[in-house]
Amino acid sequence: MTATPAAVLQSTLTCPHCGFRKQETMPTDACQYFYECTRCKRMLRPRMGNCCVFCSYGSVKCPPVQQQGDCCA
Ligand SMILES: [Zn+2]
Repeated sequence: MTATPAAVLQSTLTCPHCGFRKQETMPTDACQYFYECTRCKRMLRPRMGNCCVFCSYGSVKCPPVQQQGDCCA
C-alpha cells in the first residue's frame, strides 16, 4: 500500500461567461470535459492545454493533476 495523499474532490467552478460560481464534486477516475453553467446555460470546455473544465475554471485542479501533476491527456 502506498500512501497517496487524498485528492481534493470539491472544486468551485467559475463560469467565464457570466461569472457564476458553483461548487462541484469532481470524478476521480475521469476528466470532465464539458460543463453546463447552471445560470447562463452555456457549455464550458477546457482552455487550450487543459484536460478538463476543473483545470481551466475550477478553484482546484482535477484529482489526477493533484496526485500526478499530469492528467489523462
Ligand atoms: Zn455562466
